[in-house]
Amino acid sequence: MLVKWPSTDVKCSVMPIIEIDEVSKVYGFGDATTVALDEVSIKIEKGEFIAVMGPSGSGKTTLMNIIGLLDRPTHGIYKLNSKDVARLGKVKQARSRRDNIGFIFQSFNLLPRLTVLENVALPLAYKGMSQTRRLKAASRALEQVGLNDREYYLPNQLSGGQLQRASIARALVNGPSIIIADEPTGNLDSTSARVVMELLSDVHKLGNTVLMVTHNPSVTRYADRILYMLDGSIVYDEATAVGEIPRRVQNAFNALRKSDDDEKIANVSAMMEAMPTPTDNVYTKKSKKKKRQSKRSRK
Ligand code: ADP
Ligand code: MG
Repeated sequence: MLVKWPSTDVKCSVMPIIEIDEVSKVYGFGDATTVALDEVSIKIEKGEFIAVMGPSGSGKTTLMNIIGLLDRPTHGIYKLNSKDVARLGKVKQARSRRDNIGFIFQSFNLLPRLTVLENVALPLAYKGMSQTRRLKAASRALEQVGLNDREYYLPNQLSGGQLQRASIARALVNGPSIIIADEPTGNLDSTSARVVMELLSDVHKLGNTVLMVTHNPSVTRYADRILYMLDGSIVYDEATAVGEIPRRVQNAFNALRKSDDDEKIANVSAMMEAMPTPTDNVYTKKSKKKKRQSKRSRK
């Protein structure tokens, strides 16, 4: 159903597609300084499906925005396809983003006055394509997510699940090889969430690299690597078999159940019920927990 991008079936272990070296992001000045990312280093290979977890404020979105070239690191090196991109000028950075990366956000971010088709065609507007070709490409992308019959609807006429499928179409329309999804199921009921996850899983199976932030333990079963963030650092980095929920993630969910965040618990519980019980017996720890100095944000 989906287009196969020019990609390899074998993971390249020599040249990572994404390489982040001691990247920090500091917001504010003086007493109001927040260290959103604290010397994070990570290598990501082509074709990985990474679930990024961690409490609110731990730096997940900041990391995604830096990888997605929506934001710049304060310090450190970011290489995308072996090219140093952190300090590229605005125009070159935008071009690199457009050619390599598709975004999916929790709140969909579709423009309310444009039709679904026009929204999906938007990322092509900067490619110098004729409008007819842009709309054709958008129509094909909508077909990939099963939304052809909604092309001329406005976003407010769609359900949450349909909106997220439209935003997946928008993310795919450029043929990017990296998909960044920041809590893509955060605003969805469990049935819609499952559809969205199956689509992301299809995109992954075609050889694309997927980075997905999630609070939801059960959606980590689609991933083959889990990052866990805390206070601006990656504290766990685990390989995991697709189809399984790592024990640590399950434990985090159990801990959440004991907390008092009712809304989050309700969302996650609904999701867990919609999924079959995992066979959680593979648990490969990739890197040891790093003891880090206190880097709690000063707010
Ligand atoms: P998460 O996505 O894990 O919830 P974020 O990456 O959004 O975390 O935020 C990490 C930290 O950086 C938080 O303390 C947050 O308040 C702070 N932060 C994020 N964006 C900004 C910003 N634009 N200005 C100031 N502080 C920010
Ligand atoms: Mg976030």
